[in-house]
Amino acid sequence: MKFEIPSGARHMLQTLSDAGYEAYLVGGCVRDLLRGVEPHDWDICTSARPEETEACFAGHRIIETGLKHGTVTVLEEGEPYEITTYRTEGPYSDSRRPDYVKFVSSLEADLARRDFTMNAIALGLEGGPRDPFGGADDIKAGVIRCVGEPAQRFQEDGLRVMRALRFGAVLGYEIEEQTVRAIHENRHMLERVAAERINVELRKLLVGEKAGDILRQYPDVFRQFWPQLEPLVTLEQNNPWHCWGGWEHTIHAVKAAPADLIPRLTMLLHDIGKPACKSTDENGIDHFYGHPAVSAKLADQMLRTLKFDSKTRERVVTLVEHHDAQIPCRDRSIRKWLGRLGPETFFQLLEVKRADGMGQAYELVKDRLAELEEIKTKAEEIVAQGQCFSLKDLAVNGQDVIAAGVAPGPEVGRALSKLLERVLSGEVPNERKILLDLIGTAI
Ligand code: ATP
Ligand code: MG
Repeated sequence: MKFEIPSGARHMLQTLSDAGYEAYLVGGCVRDLLRGVEPHDWDICTSARPEETEACFAGHRIIETGLKHGTVTVLEEGEPYEITTYRTEGPYSDSRRPDYVKFVSSLEADLARRDFTMNAIALGLEGGPRDPFGGADDIKAGVIRCVGEPAQRFQEDGLRVMRALRFGAVLGYEIEEQTVRAIHENRHMLERVAAERINVELRKLLVGEKAGDILRQYPDVFRQFWPQLEPLVTLEQNNPWHCWGGWEHTIHAVKAAPADLIPRLTMLLHDIGKPACKSTDENGIDHFYGHPAVSAKLADQMLRTLKFDSKTRERVVTLVEHHDAQIPCRDRSIRKWLGRLGPETFFQLLEVKRADGMGQAYELVKDRLAELEEIKTKAEEIVAQGQCFSLKDLAVNGQDVIAAGVAPGPEVGRALSKLLERVLSGEVPNERKILLDLIGTAI
């Protein structure tokens, strides 16, 4: 089978080869080509030393950030190509990259240091794929298998535990049996891995099609970096709304959420505070009063531990905090919520509430799910019509209020809030003249 290498990548391989070096595409791009999927980036491995690679591409823009580890990034028509000298690597004590690398002379030695067989295939301009570990067969069979002895590979770099789960979630491949065992047995190796590296893999994992199944099969791995998950994994919920325990409910909610980071992370963490809030009434029914606020607090901590950026963290925490809020299906309430959260967050909250409902006893929540659809339609109309739902939409502003005789200072804000309140409730229209007339009476 001949694989189509696009002209940019072909040019890079050709340039190195014309200068007398070996050069191959390797890693994710070869895996994707073999799967029939378009690669999203291009990694090249070569026998050329970094300074030799730089000399080959003297006319190009070169980024040297990975130089210490043998990587030169060359830009060709705006596209970055990471060109890495054949190498083996030392341990990853904590950092994003191995502590040191050792350049080697053979392609096979370079492929042997790679994590999974499907990622250890090289493709050059001539001949078929170079595949000493049977990666192509594993891709065909949909199997994730370590290169070499699994336990040893996870001990060298604990991040590989997360990478295995990430590929399982994204590609939907089965993880091979010995690799599975080694993942469970070596999950503690994640303790030594920098939070930023775990973060990169977790984000990719959560938006994978099989994220829910991976959560179900490997709660022990996730607990390794987020011990706060432990009580949720074993939480029982004896409550008519719930047909599952805490973890299985979480898995269903993650699966039902759109495949984007924010809703998936929110569903993973939305009930994290439930165990701490559990009480059982005289009829043996469990309740979890106040759990959204506790969940939000814990989610904030957990996202900080894994060094999520503040935008993602704050959004997820807001959604977790409000995931259980009652939103009446009335225009005035919807306008208030739109004003409070802003449209983007509000529509995400509706997705979150839908996903949460999908993880509950369906017969009991199906009316509520239908109502959520109605709320969504109404909210879309409100936004499309440009209706007022926040101070910035109000037909008057602070200047107007002052001009109408309110003394500058906190009174101005109070006056505007009162006017907004009356507009939101539908009591008065959002019209400048009417609002200006009201200023005298509204305060
Ligand atoms: P993606 O599609 O996410 O880019 P990828 O397989 O290209 O997937 P990268 O993180 O870009 O993943 O890594 C490129 C290649 O480097 C991998 O295919 C693998 O061969 C090797 N690799 C990356 N990280 C590790 C690791 N921690 N241990 C061993 N090999 C690794
Ligand atoms: Mg890649």
